[in-house]
Amino acid sequence: MSKHNRARHDKLMTLEHSQWSRFIDLLRGKEGCDFQGEPPKTTWRCLGYEDKSLSKSILLRFFPKVDIKSTMEYFERSGGFCDCEVVFNIA
Ligand SMILES: [Zn+2]
Repeated sequence: MSKHNRARHDKLMTLEHSQWSRFIDLLRGKEGCDFQGEPPKTTWRCLGYEDKSLSKSILLRFFPKVDIKSTMEYFERSGGFCDCEVVFNIA
């Protein structure tokens, strides 16, 4: 991969991003959906529908170079319409 492509890559939070697992850990944790307990009794918070406010605030705080709008489009293309769907359907 060329340097140019790598730079463009880092603006999108995708499975290919070097910090993807850190992002998902934050989204699962207290900063995000706050997953608690073991299946089938797992609980978490999420506003549902197309709300990705937790993902957006984590990206703003921890990954300021990431392009939020393009990343949200990537999440939706990948089946992540709300915050918990990003965890369930992409991670
Ligand atoms: Zn959800």
